[in-house]
Order: sequence, then C-alpha cells, then structure tokens
Amino acid sequence: MISTQTFAPVTPAIIDQLKHILGAENVSTAKADVDLHAKDQSQHEAHPAEVVIWPMSGQQTADVLKLANDHHIAVTPWGVGTGLEGNSIPLHGGILMSFERMNQIVEVHADDFQVTVQPGIGHKDLNEKLARYGLFFAPDPGANATVGGMLANNAAGIRTVKYGASKDNVLKMQVVLADGRLIHVGSRSVKQSAGYDLLHLFVGSEGTLGVITEATLKLVPVPQFMSAVLASFSTIASAVETVVAVRGSGLDPAALELVDGAHSKMLSSVDGVELGDQPVVFMEFHAAQEATLAAGLEIVQEICEEMGALWFKSTTDTAERKRLWHARHHSYEIMVRMHPDKQFFINDVAVPISAYPELIGYVEQIRDEHGVTCYMIGHAGDGNIHVEFPFANEAQHQKAMEMNGLIVQKALSLGGTCTGEHGVGIGKAKYLPAEHGEALDVMRDIKQLLDPNGILNPGKIFPESGH
Ligand SMILES: Cc1cc2nc3c(=O)[nH]c(=O)nc-3n(C[C@H](O)[C@H](O)[C@H](O)COP(=O)(O)OP(=O)(O)OC[C@H]3O[C@@H](n4cnc5c(N)ncnc54)[C@H](O)[C@@H]3O)c2cc1C
Repeated sequence: MISTQTFAPVTPAIIDQLKHILGAENVSTAKADVDLHAKDQSQHEAHPAEVVIWPMSGQQTADVLKLANDHHIAVTPWGVGTGLEGNSIPLHGGILMSFERMNQIVEVHADDFQVTVQPGIGHKDLNEKLARYGLFFAPDPGANATVGGMLANNAAGIRTVKYGASKDNVLKMQVVLADGRLIHVGSRSVKQSAGYDLLHLFVGSEGTLGVITEATLKLVPVPQFMSAVLASFSTIASAVETVVAVRGSGLDPAALELVDGAHSKMLSSVDGVELGDQPVVFMEFHAAQEATLAAGLEIVQEICEEMGALWFKSTTDTAERKRLWHARHHSYEIMVRMHPDKQFFINDVAVPISAYPELIGYVEQIRDEHGVTCYMIGHAGDGNIHVEFPFANEAQHQKAMEMNGLIVQKALSLGGTCTGEHGVGIGKAKYLPAEHGEALDVMRDIKQLLDPNGILNPGKIFPESGH
C-alpha cells in the first residue's frame, strides 16, 4: 500500500552512490541542512530526512530516483518550502531532493510568449529576468515559490481571476518517474490534442507521481496600464456582493481580493494606508490603453457606490498603486509580526462565485458561535477564501482544526473544493473521500501504476496515511 509501508534506510553505501551521481558538494547529512528542509511554512510538525541532495540536471534526478526505487528509499521533492499544507515535509525520512540549485532559465522563446526553465527558479526571480522582454509569468502565490513547487501544488494566487492558475500557464514539462524514466509531457504548441493529457496529470500531483525537472511556461505581455481600486463596506455581505457584481460586469479584473474588517484593522496599522476597520475589496485592472482603464474605473465606482461603499480610492499612478496594494501583498508578514507569540493555521477552500456570499456568511456565523479569533482574506474573484487562525496552545489549535472541518464541509456542500490552491499535503487528505468519492480510487490506481513502490513523497494526498 501507498503509505503504511516502511522504507529502507539511507545507508553509508547509498550516500556514497549519491555522491558518485551528484558530486559530494550536492549531498549533505549535516544537521543544519536536514533541519532547514524538515518543515515548510505550515503548522505541521517538522520531520527530518536522512540526507538532503541538490540535483543539477534531469539526468542526475533520474539516476537518483532509479537508485532510490531499486532500494525502496523514500524521496520527497522540495522547491523552497513555502507550502502551507505540509506538502514537502519528508514524513518518511529518506532522501530530500531539493531543486534550489536547478534555478536557471533554459531558453526564452520571446516570439512565442514562452520560457523554458529549470524547476528551482523562483517566480519573482523569473519575472525580474523577463522584464527586459516586456513579458511575465502571471501566477503569483505571494511568496517567492519555485516554478516546480508551484506546478506541483497547482499554485494560484492574486492574479488567477484574469490569468489562471499554474495549470493554465504551462505547456510542456520534463518529468522523471519513480523508476528513473525521464519523459516529456505536453508540447510547445498552445493547442494540444495528442492523446491523454499527461501534462496536467503531473500538475497538482504534489511530487507523488513524478518529479518535474524542466517546464515550458506561457508568458503574457506586461500590461501598458494598470490601476488599483480599494473600496470599503460596512458589512462583509455588501463587500462580497460587490465582488460578485464586479465579476458579473464583464470588466475582467486582474485581481479581486477581499479582506475582512479585523484584517483591515491590522493592515491599517502599517504603511500609512488607512483602511479602517471595515471589510475592504482590493482590485486591479490591466489594459493596453489608458482610456479603456478610465472607462472601466467609472463602472467599478458606480458598482461600489450602488453597493453602499463607505469610501472608494482608485489610481492609475504606478507608485500610488503599489502603495495602496502594499499592505495586501504583505498581509501575511504583517499578521505574523503582529502576533509574535502565535502560530497560524491557514485554511483554504473555494466555491463557485455565486456561492461565495453564503460561504463567507457561514464563516462569520460559526466564528461568532464558537467565539474564535480569526481573519478572513480571500482571492474573492475566484471564490477562494483563506480563514487564518492564530493559536498559542494545543486547545486553540484543535479549535482551529474543528472550524476548518466545518468550513470544508460547507464548501463541499456548496459545490466547492477542500483546497483552492494550497494542495492536499498532509492536512487535507482526510477530506478527499468526501470530495472525490470513487474517483479517489482511480487516483490510487494511477499512483500504483506510476510509483508501485510508493517512494515518491509518501504520506501525502491519500487519507490512509493517518496523519
Ligand atoms: C506568505 C505565503 C503566501 C502564500 N500565498 C499563496 C497564494 O496566494 N496562492 C497559492 O497558491 N499558494 C500560496 N502560498 C503557498 C506556496 O507558496 C505554494 O504552495 C507554492 O506552490 C509552494 O512552492 P515551493 O517552491 O515553496 O514548494 P514546496 O513548498 O517546497 O513544495 C510544494 C510541493 O511541491 C513538490 N515539489 C517541489 N518541487 C517539485 C518538483 N520539481 N517536482 C515535483 N514536485 C515538486 C513538493 O514535494 C511539495 O509537494 C503561500 C505561502 C506563503 C508562505
């Protein structure tokens, strides 16, 4: 079975073979390296690997996986550890395969609006390098996550409402299977219809089916003109209805974010942008012509006023736009800084946009019934919400878990999903039977076919892991 099995230890002989494949400088059993790769940004407990390795090529990755598969050693891929569901924690020890050193652009295909990259490049670093071509890779999960980690988690973020998630922005990948076979999936053609869509089988598989060693990504031109809009409302219901109305207006926002009153109050204390203590909707619009942008802003203002906005701020000035968005872009760091004695559990569910008001209303209701402190921040344009629970002890942590369970059940009852963008990892595994039913058995069959020894990122996705 996938997760109840035990794995072989990493012996000195295996370490020697890893050094032979990778070079001694790319293999470490030093405590500092092991500890640094034992935990992601989630609240899940750290677990040490036995060895950390840094492959430098697809072929080296293939050679390591063949070795690990032959000896039944667990292998967990690692991007840069910004995951929020324990996705890259090496639960079964073994080999931690970090892609931090495979971080180069392989080729820019500027005329095709594409770039081919190694998996360890951070999306922010990639966009800095692409700026001179006037192009960018649109998915933006906030943290400087790697392209490999983003594709493995199907990360999304602030701009998904216009540009799509990671899955919508990849064309082709080089993938190494558990037995060391190195394959290519997808094509550089934007249209693809040749057989099973293996590309998207590996996207979102969280390193449990194969390891991504190269990816060709879709790029979009950097917009000529951008605006920022902030509007505040006296109730979260009117803020959420505004989100639905903007989505329905055909205006095509590039970002449409909701911050609840408690979170606005916290963000107000920094950066000199006074948000007040009421819910705020953050929006961004992109256009090729200034006049288009200005006409759109008028419509947005009308919608917000009809919905009873307490105040409305908009700008097309670049510096002012960045100033208005700064607090939202840094909301996580600000929240952590303001709760120095607390850890955070960050929930992540998504529903169809028409069900978003009901979902948000439900979170408010159970928050009040249970007397729990939490903050809501969401990629509202996608029907995606994160409810953030600070906790200082196990009782508070358990309460957050109970609330998370209720919110997930509600999202599923509204036709949604237990995770919009953070993936399953450890924390969401128990909800997959309710979400997928028999389809989960098909996922197990696929896992069995591609990784019969269960060496790839064991203990993740499937609920029998017991974590
Ligand atoms: C402050 C903050 C804000 C965030 N905001 C968002 C957000 O708005 N939207 C969002 O979607 N996420 C968000 N995240 C979560 C996180 O950034 C994403 O999940 C991201 O995809 C993780 O990338 P990583 O490079 O850190 O990968 P890791 O966390 O290291 O790994 C993630 C998963 O990918 C696998 N993996 C890594 N590299 C490979 C590879 N080459 N081949 C196969 N599998 C691989 C790992 O095994 C693991 O299962 C946020 C995180 C933080 C800390």
